[in-house]
Amino acid sequence: MTILDGKQTAAVVRADIKEQVAKATARFGEPMTLAVILVGDDPASRVYVSNKIKACAEVGILSRRIVLGADATDQDVQAEIEALNADPAVCGILLQLPLPAGCDEQRLLAAIDPAKDVDGLHVVQRGKLFCGLPALLPCTPYGIMQLLARYQIEVAGKRAVVVGRSNLVGKPLAMLLLNANATVTVCHSRTPDLKDVCRTADILCVAVGKPRFITADMVKEGAVVVDVGINRTEQGLVGDVDYAAVAPHCSFITPVPGGVGPMTVTMLMQNTCDAYLLQHSAR
Ligand code: NDP
Repeated sequence: MTILDGKQTAAVVRADIKEQVAKATARFGEPMTLAVILVGDDPASRVYVSNKIKACAEVGILSRRIVLGADATDQDVQAEIEALNADPAVCGILLQLPLPAGCDEQRLLAAIDPAKDVDGLHVVQRGKLFCGLPALLPCTPYGIMQLLARYQIEVAGKRAVVVGRSNLVGKPLAMLLLNANATVTVCHSRTPDLKDVCRTADILCVAVGKPRFITADMVKEGAVVVDVGINRTEQGLVGDVDYAAVAPHCSFITPVPGGVGPMTVTMLMQNTCDAYLLQHSAR
């Protein structure tokens, strides 16, 4: 069994991105700037935003943190987005999710200029992904595909099962696996015989949000298991997979923490660099 070490892989990928950033900014003579909008005071979101800002500094991307109170209206958030859309110094805009209750997430995501949508959540980017066209990809699924690629795990021709169908993770991941020529099954809370379906997977990806939801009897011997879940429990952070019981049956498995998480932030840096290059090449 091999651990898919997201932390180590992210460090390698970030070193490469750092070089790309240096080359791109030297070529166009302008710094690369990511703007992150945080609405409200969700403690987990604050940590995620800090991690993103830190990652920017690590690879040479400038960052702007825009913090709005939990009482901000959709109009307030939209006004910030529009100002950033119009600012040529900003090549990437990230709206940290989840937004406080009452905010219209889909409408605000749609207000971001698709060319600056480095989280890959605008319908235009999603549409491109659906059509198999080059796109700014949602960072978590993109990070998973990178992790598989870096460990030279063949996807084409494999049977992949994705448990979870969120717009953020499950659906785009299923699409990326399909575009990479896997045969993909997507499961959700209404899937009957989940255990039997999971046991067909050569590659089992889990994004459910329930601690240790996937047990050893749900995993085929020798499967690749990707655990997206981040669950805060009394025993600390745990994934959606019962790691101790499942790991001995896998060929590869991601740990939590240190698996998918570090790759997610890293691909945000890659998207920011790609968005910068596309915008500057078009000017
Ligand atoms: P959502 O809550 O949006 O989606 C959860 C999915 O799991 C839904 O599709 C739901 O089905 C499905 N589900 C729930 N219960 C069951 C069940 N009993 N059997 C089968 N499927 C079920 O979560 P996200 O996709 O946003 O996140 C999932 C997890 O990944 C969370 O722990 C989150 O914290 C983590 N995460 C980690 C990231 C990282 O960088 N590592 C990034 C993003 C998320 P239905 O649609 O039918 O309700």
